[in-house]
This record gives sequence, structure tokens and C-alpha cells, in this order.
Amino acid sequence: MPLSRSRYSSPFGLPWAWLVALLPLLLGAPLIYWQAERAHERQTAEGIRQAQGKLEQILDYADNATTMVSSLVGISCQTAVLPLREHSMATPFVRSLNLTHQGNIYCTSLYGISGAPEEPEQYVDGQLRLMPGNQVTPERAVLIFRRETTDGSVLAGIDTQYLADTLQLTSLSAPIDLQIGDLWLDAQGNTFHDGVGEQATHEITTTSSRYPFSLRASPDDTTLWPLLRADFGPLLIMLALLSLLFGIGARALERRSNSPLREIRRGLRDNEFEPFYQPIVDIETNTWKGLEVLMRWNHPQAGLIPPDQFVPLAERSGLIVGMTSQLMAKVAKDLAPHVYQLSPGFHVGFNISASHCEGKHLLEQCQQFLSAFPADTITLVLELTERELLKPSEMTTALFETLGNMNIRIAIDDFGTGNASLAYLRQFHVDYLKIDRSFVAMVGQDALSHHLLDNIIDLSTRLNLGIVAEGIETTLQRDYLSQRGVQFLQGYLYARPMPAEDLMRTLATSPESSPVKASPLET
Ligand code: C2E
Ligand code: CA
Ligand code: CA
Repeated sequence: MPLSRSRYSSPFGLPWAWLVALLPLLLGAPLIYWQAERAHERQTAEGIRQAQGKLEQILDYADNATTMVSSLVGISCQTAVLPLREHSMATPFVRSLNLTHQGNIYCTSLYGISGAPEEPEQYVDGQLRLMPGNQVTPERAVLIFRRETTDGSVLAGIDTQYLADTLQLTSLSAPIDLQIGDLWLDAQGNTFHDGVGEQATHEITTTSSRYPFSLRASPDDTTLWPLLRADFGPLLIMLALLSLLFGIGARALERRSNSPLREIRRGLRDNEFEPFYQPIVDIETNTWKGLEVLMRWNHPQAGLIPPDQFVPLAERSGLIVGMTSQLMAKVAKDLAPHVYQLSPGFHVGFNISASHCEGKHLLEQCQQFLSAFPADTITLVLELTERELLKPSEMTTALFETLGNMNIRIAIDDFGTGNASLAYLRQFHVDYLKIDRSFVAMVGQDALSHHLLDNIIDLSTRLNLGIVAEGIETTLQRDYLSQRGVQFLQGYLYARPMPAEDLMRTLATSPESSPVKASPLET
């Protein structure tokens, strides 16, 4: 059924359920990325801090060793070489200890007597020198720690492999480089002049307060992704699950928003409710006394939907008020140009639900409808079903008083199926009773049914109101009712409810508004 599901439910014509589903990912992913970046930076900073501590420890050993042998400076190499070797071997990380005097390295723990120049100006702060290689290890860089004494200096050679290992081990996420002067050492033990790490998004640097060296780490995307996968993978999975949940929720909402009520609301917005017209025939003159307007929903997919499939829900939700208003406007547009083809005071009847009588809209809508026609050309009739009686109140009493003064007629629809009292009929200024078609269908049936129908007709006659019988399908029914004084008849025998074009065509071919012989349905 067309009211259950519709492809037209998306308010923006967009697959919004997908957008909602992606929302956690769209919002969460940048947040996670940002968090990962922060964590990455924190890890890098922590790594660099650890590297600094370890390098300072290594240098502390060199510092100690050079202190221990500083008294040997100036003493002959023959005497000094042995203690130099002992201290060199006993001190972790220190590969050699050397003594200098008058600008010359005159004694080394490795070779004994030597004669190389000291070059003190090459030392950063006179203390540290990073050399790409030296005579002993031309392929491998060496770090030299220098301690100045009154007679010269002590130099401690440190294998850069230890330093490179330290850089490697402490590098938690981004590679760390060590800088001494204008030379750098990376975690692979290579020395270089600046230039590496140019693609780094942002560098983190630190400078030791105890020794003249700096460290630099360059976190970039290549080092970020492994961290993102390892530490934020579960969160990303959760986000994806949340997206899934959001998607399911949005889909469920979408389905709910496709509810019949929503669909009716859409139909109202898209102006899809159409009037069909069924004539009411005056049996005395054999002419059309008026029309009943019956609502149809011209649904884009389902085609014409009869009112019993949507009117009850529209009544419960209050949407019927707007729908009736839409219907009245269309009827006015259909009939106003042809008003002089209709007999004077031609009845136009609308079905009005009880809830509609509880607001001020009804009066306004009636006024608006009537204003579309020249005065006294048509008579507006409001049909109120007996199945759902109005609650008498000051407001409804006043409303019906006003409607009466405006010459708007009230008909009780489906008469006989409810229990409207005489007081009720008077209070609401009822003009017509419409005998329900279930009673009309009793014509020609058993005696008890006949009796019931006769009673309804008698009651209607005694109430001294205009009587309309609905659902006349056979000539037998027509004759029976007319014999019993029922003046107005409506039913398939005369015409089925028809769209405006058919009505206009019929009116055009029968200028006297008496097309009662049009397509009778005999049984
Ligand atoms: P109703 O007011 O009693 O309208 C008469 C119903 O009987 C119409 O059904 C009409 O097509 C049908 N009918 C007419 N002659 C015959 C006949 O000879 N034989 C048979 N079997 N049926 C006949 P429809 O158009 O399906 O409307 C059904 C109900 O929906 C209406 O009953 C009315 O209660 C409600 N309705 C229709 N239009 C509106 C509306 O604009 N507003 C409100 N609130 N209710 C409406
Ligand atoms: Ca009716
Ligand atoms: Ca009826």
C-alpha cells in the first residue's frame, strides 16, 4: 500500500541516512588524527628526553675518566701510557684516552707516543668534537671529549656506535639526530651536515645544559601512521561500528519518517488531494440538487487512493483540516467558472470531521470558499457523520449559529448508524439527514430489514428535515424510497463520483443541470 513506504521521504532529496552514518567517522577521524599527532609528539619528546639523559651519562663516563687521568698531563708518555690504558679499558664507552701538551697529542692509550696536533679550536665550547672519522677508524665517526688542565688537556675518544645505538633505542616514534657544532650524527651512525629532516612537519629539539650538544627529532606522517594503527586502531574500529549504528539508526528513522502520516503530510504539501464529485438528484424535478465532494488522493506512485485508506488517520492527526482547505480551494476553482450552469442555490457538500469543528478554521474556510462565488449562487453544505457526534460547547454552539446565519446547511451523514438525539439535531441547526447506504441496501430484502429501513425513513420524516438517501444502486431502491417520500437520492444509479473534467463535460452537455439519465447502473 502506498502509505507504508515511499522513496520520497528524504526531506532534502539526499541519501541523508548515509551522511548520518558517516558523521561519527567524519567528526571522529580528524579528532583521532589530532590526538594521534599529539601522542606522537609526546612520544617523540619523551624519546628525545631519554636520549639526552643517556648521552649525558655516556659523557659523564668520559668526564670521569679524563678527571682521573688529568694529573698525568705533562708526564712522559712512557710513564703515563699504562694508567691511561687501564682507565680507558675500565671506563665504559671510552675507547681511548689521550694526553696533550703544548698543542700536541703526545700520548695515546692506543699507540703510546704520538705527535698529532690537538686543534682545540675545533671543540665546541672547548669540550666536544664530533669527527666523521679519524686515523684509527676512518670509516666510523668518533666523538672526542676534552678536559683542559693547567699543562695541557686530556682527550677521551668515544665510539659513536654507542651514541648511534642510544639514538636508535630511545627513538620511540620519530628518528633522533645528535648535533655537535655543525656536524650531525644519525641513529645509523652516519655523520652529515644539516639538510636531513626537511620534510618533517614539525621538529622537536632539545639542548643539553650540561654538555654542548643538541638533539632533534622530526615526527612526520610516515612515523605517525604506525602509531595511529597500533594505538588508535581499536578506536577507529569503534568509530566504524558507531558509524554502522548511526547508519542503522538513521535508516530506522528514515523508515519511520516514511510513515503513512509523513506521507500524508507530503501529499498535502504537494497538493495531491483532489475532489471527486457525486451528484445528488431531486426525484421530484429529476434534476441535480447538488453535489457531494469526495476526497481522493492522487498519489504519484499509487494512483488514486480512496478516502477510507487515509481519511481516518488524517482525522486523528488533525491533518484533515488542511486537506479539507485544499479540497475546498480546488472545488471553488473547478466550479466558480461554471456557476451559471448550475441551478440557483445548487448544493455543494463537504464531509467535515468532528475535530474540524473545534477550531476557528472551519468558519474561515467556509467564508473563503463562498467568497469564490457570486452571492446566492450556491449553497454550501457541511456533512457531519452521525458516527462521531460533536461535543456541544459554547464554541461549537456559536459556530453553528454563525454557519446557519451564513446560510450554510448542515447534513447528518450516515444517519441511522449513530444515535443523534433530537436535541442534538436542533442544537447544531441540522437541515438534512443522509440515510446511510446500509439501510438503502435493505430494499428488497427480508421483512425485518424492511421494517428497520421504514423506521429510519419514518423517523427522518417526522423530524421534518430534508432527507437524502445514499447508495442508490437500483431502480427498485429508487422507486421504494421515492414512494416513501424521500426526495433526494445519491448513488451509482445516477452517477459514480467523478473527477472535475467529467463533471464539466456532463454539465456542458446538459446545461439544465439535469443529467440524471447519465450512465444509470441498473441491476
Ligand atoms: P460518505 O460521506 O458516506 O460518502 C459516500 C460514500 O459512498 C462514497 O465513498 C461514495 O463513493 C460511496 N457511494 C456513493 N454512491 C454509492 C453507491 O451507489 N454504492 C456504493 N457501494 N457506494 C456508493 P468514498 O468516496 O469512498 O468515501 C468514503 C468515505 O470517506 C465518505 O463516506 C466519507 O465518510 C469519507 N470522506 C470522503 N471524502 C471526505 C472528505 O473530504 N473529508 C472527510 N472528513 N471525509 C471524507
Ligand atoms: Ca458524506
Ligand atoms: Ca454516508
